Amino acid sequence: MAYSADRYSQMKYARCGRSGLKLPLISLGLWHNFGGSYVFENAREMVLKSFDLGITHFDLANNYGPPAGSAEETFGKILKSDLAGYRDELIISTKAGYYMWPGPYGDWGSKKYLIASLDQSLKRMGLDYVDIFYSHRPDPDTPLEETMGALDLVVRQGKALYAGISSYNAETTKQAAAILKRLGTPCLIHQPYYNMLDRWIENGLQEVLDEEGIGSIAFCPLAQGLLTGKYLLDTPQGARLASREIPEASLKKVRLLNDFAAQRGQSLAQMALAWVLRGGKVTSALIGASRFSQIEENAGALSNLEFSKEELDGIDGILGM
Ligand code: NDP
Repeated sequence: MAYSADRYSQMKYARCGRSGLKLPLISLGLWHNFGGSYVFENAREMVLKSFDLGITHFDLANNYGPPAGSAEETFGKILKSDLAGYRDELIISTKAGYYMWPGPYGDWGSKKYLIASLDQSLKRMGLDYVDIFYSHRPDPDTPLEETMGALDLVVRQGKALYAGISSYNAETTKQAAAILKRLGTPCLIHQPYYNMLDRWIENGLQEVLDEEGIGSIAFCPLAQGLLTGKYLLDTPQGARLASREIPEASLKKVRLLNDFAAQRGQSLAQMALAWVLRGGKVTSALIGASRFSQIEENAGALSNLEFSKEELDGIDGILGM
C-alpha cells in the first residue's frame, strides 16, 4: 500500500510529558479485534489505514488476543509484510503484568516475569526493540523497586526505548517515578482508564503526572463503545457490550451527551475523544476499533477539540447527574 504524502499534516501530535517524544492525539490499541480468532485482513486494513491517517502509535500487550499473544503475532505479520520500511516512523508499545503463562513467573510484576515476557513479545512481533514497555498493573506483593528496576534494565539493554506504567494510583505513581528517576530512566508515560463516565484520574493522579512531567494516554476513552451512542437504539449484532446489561443511569447520560455532541456538530464518539484531550492534560486518546470506518470517524474529533467554558459546565452537569 502507498501511504499518502500528507499523512502527518492530517494528524496532530503532542509532546509526552517533559520528554522529547511526540505522540499522535489519537492512538490505536490492539486489545480487541486483532487476535488470531479475528479476520486478519480486517486487522491489517485497520493498522495500515490508521498509519495513513498519521496514527503513528500502536499499543499492544503480551496477553492481547485471543489467544493471548496473537495480537502481537498479527501486528508482527503486518509489520513484516507492509511496514518493514517504516519502523522509524512508528511508536510501538507493549506491556506485561496480567496472567500470561502458568506457574509463578507468568503474572504480576516480578523482574523474572517482565524480562521473559518482553523477550517473548519481541519475538512475536519480530522486533529488536519496542518504543515503550509498560508495567501493566501495580503488583502489591513485589517491591516497587524490583518492577521499576526491570523497566530500567530493558531500557538499558536497548529492548525498550522508554518506560511506562499503567493503572497505578497517584501515590504509587509518585513512588514509581521517584525510583525510575533515581535509576536514570525517567517514567515517560502513564496509561490510565479515563473517559467521560469515569474521571478517577482527576482525583490526584493528573496532578502527580503534571508535577513529574509524565505524559498520559487514556485507555477506553469511549468506554468500550458506550460513548458512541450505538447502544441508544437497538444494540448492533456483534457489538462488544452486546451481552452486558447497561445501567439505565448510564444510558440516560449517554442520550444527553449524544444530543450535546450534535449541537457541537460532532458525533458522540468525536466529542468524547475531544473531551478526554481537552486542555492538553492527556497526551493521547487510545481508541480501539472493530473496523476502519470507526477509526476514521474518531480521527474526525481533531477538527473540533475546543470547548467553551459553558460547554464544559454543561457536560459536567450531565456527568454529575
Ligand atoms: P474504546 O473505549 O475506544 O472502545 C473501542 C470500541 O468502541 C470498539 O471496539 C468499537 O466497539 C467501539 N467503537 C469505537 N469507535 C466507534 C465508533 N466511531 N462508532 C461506533 N463504535 C465505535 O477503547 P478500548 O476499550 O478498545 O481500549 C482501547 C485500547 O486501550 C486497547 O486496545 C488497549 O490498547 C488499551 N487498553 C489498556 C488497558 C490497560 O490495562 N492498560 C485496558 C484496556 C484497554 P465494537 O467492537 O462494538 O464495534
